[in-house]
Amino acid sequence: MRKRSAKPPLALPCRPVKPAPFEYHAPATTADALAVLAEHGDEAKPLAGGQSLVPMLALRLTRFGHLVDLNRVPELAGIERHNGTVTVGTMTRQADLERSPDAAAVPLLGLATPLIGHFQIRNRGTVGGSIAHADPAGELPAVVLTLDAQLDIASASGTRTVSASEFFEGTWTTVVGDDELLTAVHFPVWADGAGFAVDEVARRLGDFALVGVVCGVELDGSSKVTRAAIGLLGMGGTPLRAAAAEQALVGTAPTDDELTEIGRLAVADLDPPADIHASTEYRSSVGAHVVKRALRTALERAGG
Ligand SMILES: Cc1cc2nc3c(=O)[nH]c(=O)nc-3n(C[C@H](O)[C@H](O)[C@H](O)COP(=O)(O)OP(=O)(O)OC[C@H]3O[C@@H](n4cnc5c(N)ncnc54)[C@H](O)[C@@H]3O)c2cc1C
Repeated sequence: MRKRSAKPPLALPCRPVKPAPFEYHAPATTADALAVLAEHGDEAKPLAGGQSLVPMLALRLTRFGHLVDLNRVPELAGIERHNGTVTVGTMTRQADLERSPDAAAVPLLGLATPLIGHFQIRNRGTVGGSIAHADPAGELPAVVLTLDAQLDIASASGTRTVSASEFFEGTWTTVVGDDELLTAVHFPVWADGAGFAVDEVARRLGDFALVGVVCGVELDGSSKVTRAAIGLLGMGGTPLRAAAAEQALVGTAPTDDELTEIGRLAVADLDPPADIHASTEYRSSVGAHVVKRALRTALERAGG
């Protein structure tokens, strides 16, 4: 027979795993959802896939008196291609984006989305939820910024459209107000033959990236870059554009050594965050390598 230990049990830190009480709203239309938000202001919070919000509520890292569930608002979901734009409704599941033939016209979506968590998360998590949550290490916020997407934001009094460069204000903070909803995102379609790549370093498959890059290039007939866009994730308080590196790339058919320099340039003026997973120096050093690797892949895919 095993003897019982005389030692007292370990005193483990204990957190609640139930949210604070809230009133649940399940509107059937965007207008109804916006009316609830207008009525309750900063006491109300939209609920999309719940993959980020529900854990935060359950751990009581945040609390709201009213949750406005968008899952019964069908008009907020869907993917459409019109001329040079792919429009994605905010409640489109990440897994649907991954599989959509219309979204394939914007290759960065198909390259970046499978890197979000695990398929169970993508089955439930939404495109708009990921972008509105604005995690600086999120893949879709970086794609939005890199492609200069346009974002529709609605309130009870109308809809405004903002460009990606104005959308992200800080970690988990955007220009979407308490009484507003992100309703749709418009992604521009690049020219045929453009090359794209997404590359990142994470501790384990499915984890948020420690450092990542999303990029696109267009080339002329002599393999010179005519257009370049480079976005970084995990390297600051928001997704970031590497504007100096983009400018240095345009007009060149870069050699391997020049790509090394462009990788360094992309991170040169940044002061990436340090945390328990990676130091500032690690993120800078790995970031430069990942930019080079992604650009090389994008150039190959563009035929360079
Ligand atoms: C284990 C795990 C691993 C993950 N790994 C990754 C990863 O590698 N990369 C990554 O990018 N994400 C990752 N995620 C997060 C995942 O992508 C979430 O799906 C996403 O961040 C939030 O989307 P959601 O639809 O679940 O939104 P919710 O959790 O419902 O909402 C998130 C926030 O956005 C707000 N919001 C939602 N919709 C709207 C709207 N239409 N208008 C205004 N505000 C809105 C909510 O009020 C809330 O503040 C991970 C999550 C988990 C649980």
